[in-house]
Amino acid sequence: ALMITDECINCDVCEPECPNHAISQGEEIYQIDPELCTQCVGHYDEPQCQQVCPVDCIPLDPAREESPDELMQKYLKISGKA
Ligand code: SF4
Ligand code: SF4
Repeated sequence: ALMITDECINCDVCEPECPNHAISQGEEIYQIDPELCTQCVGHYDEPQCQQVCPVDCIPLDPAREESPDELMQKYLKISGKA
């Protein structure tokens, strides 16, 4: 999963781009639900939120590193295909 750092400027451009609806507005900045973020596996070749973030504040969450297989399994599970 990816994560949003405190450099987020609350611009809101990433939220509608997420195919898994994993991004929402938190108390101070936007946040990513790691249970829903597949790093866009199953939908796109590149993480869509990273593509649009103007301040480049969406890195890989070091606590949530997942293999391509694990990300695909997550995609299948949350999309009801597994
Ligand atoms: Fe959503 Fe993709 Fe960003 Fe994860 S990487 S939060 S699935 S847009
Ligand atoms: Fe924050 Fe970047 Fe999302 Fe804008 S695109 S709300 S700066 S994480």
